[in-house]
Amino acid sequence: MAVSPLPEAEALAPLLHLLRGRRAVVLAGAGCSTESGIPDYRGPGARPRTPIQYQEFVRSEAGRARYWARSAVGWPRFSAARPNAGHFALAELEDSGIVQGVITQNVDGLHHAAGSRRVVELHGSLASVRCLACGEVASRDRFQNRLLSMNGDWAEHVGAGVEQAPDGDAELPPSVVEAFRVPACESCGGVIKPDVVFFGENVPAERVEDAWRLFAEAEVLLVAGSSLTVYSGRRFIYRAQQQGVPIGIINIGPTRADPMAAAKVEGPLGRILPQLAQALRR
Ligand SMILES: [Zn+2]
Repeated sequence: MAVSPLPEAEALAPLLHLLRGRRAVVLAGAGCSTESGIPDYRGPGARPRTPIQYQEFVRSEAGRARYWARSAVGWPRFSAARPNAGHFALAELEDSGIVQGVITQNVDGLHHAAGSRRVVELHGSLASVRCLACGEVASRDRFQNRLLSMNGDWAEHVGAGVEQAPDGDAELPPSVVEAFRVPACESCGGVIKPDVVFFGENVPAERVEDAWRLFAEAEVLLVAGSSLTVYSGRRFIYRAQQQGVPIGIINIGPTRADPMAAAKVEGPLGRILPQLAQALRR
C-alpha cells in the first residue's frame, strides 16, 4: 500500500495509476464536507458526542424536543453550507466518465449542489422531513418556519455560535430545551422525523439496492473522506474485497480499509480531488 502525507504529484501517482482508464464508484463520507464548514465528529480533533438514537426519537417526546431544539438552531448555518472544490471535482470526474456515481454517507445535499448527477444518499437528506404515521414528506425549510413560529421568541434567546454537528443539530443547555415545542404532521398529527437514517436505524432496503447497482459498475472503489467506522459504508469495502475490486482512499487519518487499499493519499479532499481531476483530464 502506498501512503503519503504529501498531496503532491508524486504522492498522487499510485492513485492516478489506479484510476486511469477505469470506471470508479466513489464512497463519500464526512471528510468531503469539512471544508464546507460541516465538522466531522468522528474525525481528528472531534469532541466526543452522543447523537440521538432512533428508538429514543420514536419513543421519547422529550428526546424529540431536544433533537428539534438543537436542529432549529443549527439549521440556518447547515443549510447555508456550499459545496467545496472537492465536491466540484467529483462532479467533473463524473462528467469526464471516470466516476460513475457517488454513494454518500453525508446528508447535506452538497454533491447534488455541486452538479453530481448520480448520487445515492445512503443516510438520506436533512433537506426534508417525513411523517412517521402517514409518510408525508415535506421540506425542512418549511418545517423550520413552523418550528420557529410555534416557539415564538424562543429562538432569539438562543445565541449564535453554538457547536454544530454533521447531522445539523447543535449543543444546547437543558434549560433552553425544556421550553421547546415540536409541531406535528399537518395532515395527520403524526410525529415528524428528519428524513435521515439515525443511529440504531437501518438504511432503507431500496436505497441499499440503488447503491449496489451503482457499485456493480465499479472497476475501482474510491473512498473519499470516510474513516469507514459505520457498517453502512464498510459493507462496500467487504464486497470490493470479495470481488477483487481495487480500493483507493483519500482521507485525513486512518481508515478501516487502509490494510486492503491499493493506494492511499492523506490530505484534504478539497485539495486532492481537484488535482486528481486535473491530472485525469489530460
Ligand atoms: Zn402524517
